[in-house]
Amino acid sequence: MNATPLRVRFYGDPCLRKNSVPVLSVGVTEQSLIQAMLITMRENKGVGLAAPQVGINLQIFIADIGDGPLAFINPKITRRFGNSSMEEGCLSIPGIVVMVRRPEKIVVRYIDQENRPQEKAYEDMMARVIQHEIDHLNGKMIVDYASLRARIQMHKQLKELERQFKGKGYGTPSGR
Ligand SMILES: [Zn+2]
Repeated sequence: MNATPLRVRFYGDPCLRKNSVPVLSVGVTEQSLIQAMLITMRENKGVGLAAPQVGINLQIFIADIGDGPLAFINPKITRRFGNSSMEEGCLSIPGIVVMVRRPEKIVVRYIDQENRPQEKAYEDMMARVIQHEIDHLNGKMIVDYASLRARIQMHKQLKELERQFKGKGYGTPSGR
């Protein structure tokens, strides 16, 4: 498929703060979006990418932690186990990492790329990526987990990202 990379949206872009809407049915349109998202994620060396990060407020995200790409549509976490903390980064907030505490094992109900309902358990890194991406579908970002001290430290960087957005957008993708 001849998909081209999509423009990644950065902190300050309102689409990152919106609630995404469920997909009614997964068809050719959604599959092409997923293909384009995969190319975009690979180009940016990411392990996950949610549709709002490319300006589309649909409940779709992809993840690939090295054992092949998966697409999740209309995901819902149905069970959570344990807790662990780890530093997370985000393609939409370049240069920032935040320590985030999350359940370490989850069960997720979702629709796959072929429009089939699934319910599967994930743990460790994959569970973390899935939860990070589901946050994006709810307008939530890693900075929301930051301690007051960390927020003060990253304040200037975040303001700069917002300023760039309010200016003229980010221009070329290489400007990231
Ligand atoms: Zn992210």
